Amino acid sequence: MIDPLASAAVTALLERRGGDLLLIVDDSLRIMRAGPEAAVLAERSGESLAGMSLIAVFGSAPLDALARAAITTRSILIGEAELGHLGERQFAVDAVPLAQGGLLLSLHDITALRRMERVRRDFVANLGHELRTPLTSIKLLAETLAAGSVDAETTHDFVTQIEREADHLAQLVDELLDLSMIESGQTGLAVEPLDPEEGVAACVERIRPVAERRDVSVRRLPRPDTHARAMADPARLGQALLNLAHNAVKYSHHGGEVRIGWEAQDDVVRFSVADDGIGVPDSHKARIFERFYKVDRSRAREKDAEQLGGSAGIGLAIVRHIAEAHGGSVGFVSEEGLGSTFWIDVPRAPDPDRAS
Ligand code: ADP
Repeated sequence: MIDPLASAAVTALLERRGGDLLLIVDDSLRIMRAGPEAAVLAERSGESLAGMSLIAVFGSAPLDALARAAITTRSILIGEAELGHLGERQFAVDAVPLAQGGLLLSLHDITALRRMERVRRDFVANLGHELRTPLTSIKLLAETLAAGSVDAETTHDFVTQIEREADHLAQLVDELLDLSMIESGQTGLAVEPLDPEEGVAACVERIRPVAERRDVSVRRLPRPDTHARAMADPARLGQALLNLAHNAVKYSHHGGEVRIGWEAQDDVVRFSVADDGIGVPDSHKARIFERFYKVDRSRAREKDAEQLGGSAGIGLAIVRHIAEAHGGSVGFVSEEGLGSTFWIDVPRAPDPDRAS
């Protein structure tokens, strides 16, 4: 009789890389067959898995319990288990009893799906929080005004505050709409060969008045000796650079200096914005390009944050998406207490320097 487990089809499926991870265990939950992906997940060699118990290999009580229940009830069961080093990967598990005894376990990696669900939950929670703070202020101020017991000066003051909070809300909504348009690729970039010097000059001109109010000077770095052009949408790139410049000013100390410039590299033009401000603590570096991520609002003085249009943690997410929409990238180096340099890389256009 032909052993069905030895069939070419089963072997091909088991040995397949990148797909669902398949395992065959016997009635006492000892591994009979396992593919290379199972070995990678278990951090062992493929041969060493045969004969080992499921629990010894993966150390997952939920996986073990599911398999045991499927053996006992002789029915197909589905569940979830966290596996891998420190259980950092999540799997949807199908346990299918085999006619001749034993069990086929099929593990489908749902780590990315779960992460996306978490991001969406966080997004909604953050958005709710960002909207509620100004709305609460507006409601309180309006209620006090409606009660009619405040003098003319206070009334004026309250109305100004309501206006400011409404501006924050409007700005937040604009940023969100911008972000979702850029993320969904609907913006249709109008990319053209752009003199990087023009991009830098425009940014310097727009940020200077804001910086001066905060006693921060803005310096344009010397023009590099090249005719390199960036393949960029001037408006979108300008928006990204301005976001970086706003941050550089916002997180600078009084009397600080912001330096804006560019350089040509092999395949990209790098625009950079440097400051000597408060810097980003190491523990936050991995996350600051996420939507709504803020290091600590109290670090930027509230007054400055207001002057600069609030701080919702969306600016850098927009910068990243703009860079990526150009086929470029973003990056930064920063040292807490010393300052930061953020940059945007966009593709470099063919230029005379390179032809020669
Ligand atoms: P925000 O509106 O809070 O500035 P961003 O997305 O622009 O949002 O930035 C996210 C976080 O990254 C900020 O809250 C701030 O903590 C940090 N950050 C951004 N730029 C700088 C900078 N130049 N210096 C120090 N920290 C910065």
